[in-house]
Amino acid sequence: MRAAPRSLLTGLAVAATALAGTVTSTVDAVPAHAAACNGYVGLTFDDGPSGDHTPALLNALRQNGLRATMFNEGQFAAAYPAQVRAEVNAGMWIGNHSYTHPHLTQLSQAQVDSEVSRTQQAIAAAGGGTPQLFRPPYGETNATVQAVESKYGLRQIIWDVDSQDWNGASTDAIVQAVSRLSNGQIILMHEWPANTLAAIPRIAQTLASKGLCAGRISPQTGRAVAP
Ligand SMILES: [Zn+2]
Repeated sequence: MRAAPRSLLTGLAVAATALAGTVTSTVDAVPAHAAACNGYVGLTFDDGPSGDHTPALLNALRQNGLRATMFNEGQFAAAYPAQVRAEVNAGMWIGNHSYTHPHLTQLSQAQVDSEVSRTQQAIAAAGGGTPQLFRPPYGETNATVQAVESKYGLRQIIWDVDSQDWNGASTDAIVQAVSRLSNGQIILMHEWPANTLAAIPRIAQTLASKGLCAGRISPQTGRAVAP
């Protein structure tokens, strides 16, 4: 007995939303998408790719007009090469996040070299190109790590803002973290938290309201720049 009126109301709401969305997007189309990039920020998603999370994240990013840098683990690039290609096809940039996500500062130079070089090979073999960006797991680095990065022509990228999505941050908190970004800055996120996926539409809205667009990370400067 309740189903019919509720589905009717839902249908009306959907129709009203669709109509409003059509009108709004027509009115806002030029300022929202053409003239509003007063600066660029680097959205980054670590720890992929995966069969479970990558497809939904890429869909959400595409639907909201966002591009991002995906810091992939080599072991997962090797296991899910189709998802590496899907990232490229969705307009994302791919960085190296080590092969097995160890604490690199506890490893020998030969071990660090293996973590970095095997990941370069796995991403390239999957069709992701040869990365120019490297994010050490946990942001932990030292002279040994930096020597290996230099050997492979990699720019080390940490972050300006940590979304804390890995630590159970709410969707509200993730959106608030994005709102703290200024031109050129980079935010740490991950491809696996459900709250991160849920935050994507509001991340796009927040950036647009600040006149910021999602950019690529320059290997020359380590800052976010125009794609
Ligand atoms: Zn990580």
